[in-house]
Amino acid sequence: MKYDLVIVGAGPGGYVCALRAAQLGLKVAVVEKEKAGGTCLNVGCIPSKALLDSTEIFSEIKENNEHGIETKEAIMNWGTLQKRREGIVNNLTSGVEFLLKKAKIDYFEGCAQVKSRHTVVVGRSNLATKNVVLATGSKPIEIPFLPFDGQKIIDSTQALSQEKIPKDMIVVGGGYIGLEMASVYNRIGTKVTVIEMMDTIVPLMDPDISKQLKKSLKKQGIKFKTSTKVTGCKKTKKNIILNLEKNNKKDKQTAEQVLVAVGRTPNRGGINLEALGVKTNERGFVVIDEKMETSQEGIYAIGDLVPGPMLAHKASEEGVVVAERIAGKHTTFNYELIPSVVYTHPEGASIGRNANELKKAGLEFKTGMFPFSASGRAMAIGCTEGFVKVLADKKTDEILGVHILGPKASELIGEAAMAMGFCGTAEDVGIFIHAHPTLSEALKEASLEASGHGAIHT
Ligand code: FAD
Ligand code: NAD
Repeated sequence: MKYDLVIVGAGPGGYVCALRAAQLGLKVAVVEKEKAGGTCLNVGCIPSKALLDSTEIFSEIKENNEHGIETKEAIMNWGTLQKRREGIVNNLTSGVEFLLKKAKIDYFEGCAQVKSRHTVVVGRSNLATKNVVLATGSKPIEIPFLPFDGQKIIDSTQALSQEKIPKDMIVVGGGYIGLEMASVYNRIGTKVTVIEMMDTIVPLMDPDISKQLKKSLKKQGIKFKTSTKVTGCKKTKKNIILNLEKNNKKDKQTAEQVLVAVGRTPNRGGINLEALGVKTNERGFVVIDEKMETSQEGIYAIGDLVPGPMLAHKASEEGVVVAERIAGKHTTFNYELIPSVVYTHPEGASIGRNANELKKAGLEFKTGMFPFSASGRAMAIGCTEGFVKVLADKKTDEILGVHILGPKASELIGEAAMAMGFCGTAEDVGIFIHAHPTLSEALKEASLEASGHGAIHT
């Protein structure tokens, strides 16, 4: 066999798996039908954060005069911002290609067809391999009566790169993509209404985060219609009219454009899973075991193609597990410890279980909350919205979940991940010295509160 493993897909799952396998001395090939970096680098995590960061600076200058920065008028040059986004993406994707080359990984451009555990076909090449890793990612879910047309009804990829800024936009789905893109467009002047079928936005996050985040976003100008279903649509020359239903009451919403962000579905196109005998679950995700191996020996699957949160860091870690398992190590993956972040302003970040989940599991726990309104650093930054919430086991004090809404929550959650990874207690985090003045002091304070010592500054 020429290869130890052939990986289908060069997203954060596939390319990280390839790099780790090469580090461990395995002979690796990667097949990619579009661009290295996958959804994450090309049309996901990175371009969305580039737009979020640019528009946040814009709205800070425009709306937040408390810093005393005076400008005549801040003007958004959408074209420049788009060029910046493109530049960042190109830098990173060529960086991935460089890393793969440096690691002596063979890179094939084209759509892979997996014939068996031992044969992957790309164009005219037959790649002979001991193992195959499927890392083909996911694509947006389309609502049958709202098919994407690239103009009036768009998906996240189009929302990231369209030339014209719409006057008004309806966002269907108040999850990660919905809220991040609603924030981008709202900040540059589009009137945005988010339609969410559940009674809360980001329904999988801690309920206090969902509630307070909705308040903050409403204050910024985004409108919400929750517990609302879209039942139909009509296009006019200029606009699109959505038929809505809430508690059996009918309603309508009109806008120039609709962004549909109701989740993503695994990308099975091109890989003939049925013929390979690879089992999928009722939602089409490939079923894997703790080694990330599918129902077929020697065929592994990772990332958005398999069950679990659809996150880049989850895909990458699964890639590491597969590479290490194939290399003979006994690495495992702890699905309880995957941080998730929504990059709105303020940011929401969570790890571990929330109060509802702990109650459901019958676990007794203690709660420590600390508001950013009592943080000196949050005041200096000018964002005192939100809190840190630490949930710890009532008897052992072990941290079971940390939920943060506030400035740089995405960075703060890292400390919580580390503490939980070491099975740390709330007291452990509470007694460590945190630099002053930092936002991380809020995590220390909430931990002191949860541990029973009591927060100092409340
Ligand atoms: P992908 O990144 O989707 O990569 C799969 C690759 O496989 C693709 O390049 C595809 O072309 C290729 N492929 C598919 N079929 C074949 C075939 N037959 N032959 C060859 N190649 C094939 N996650 C986060 O953690 N943080 C974020 O901030 C974040 N923001 C996001 C924002 C948006 C707008 C979107 C859409 C997603 C975001 N995500 C975020 C999710 C993240 O992008 C995905 O979870 C991640 O990319 C999944 O990685 P993957 O490697 O499984 O798949
Ligand atoms: P999502 O699952 O985060 O949110 C979809 C939302 O749409 C949910 O709140 C759901 O209740 C709602 N919904 C579903 N059907 C609906 C309907 N017919 N009408 C109204 N609302 C409806 O999905 P997404 O926002 O499309 O993002 C896809 C995936 O990409 C996510 O699972 C996420 O993991 C990943 N992502 C992550 C980040 C991040 O980490 N910051 C950012 C963007 C995307």
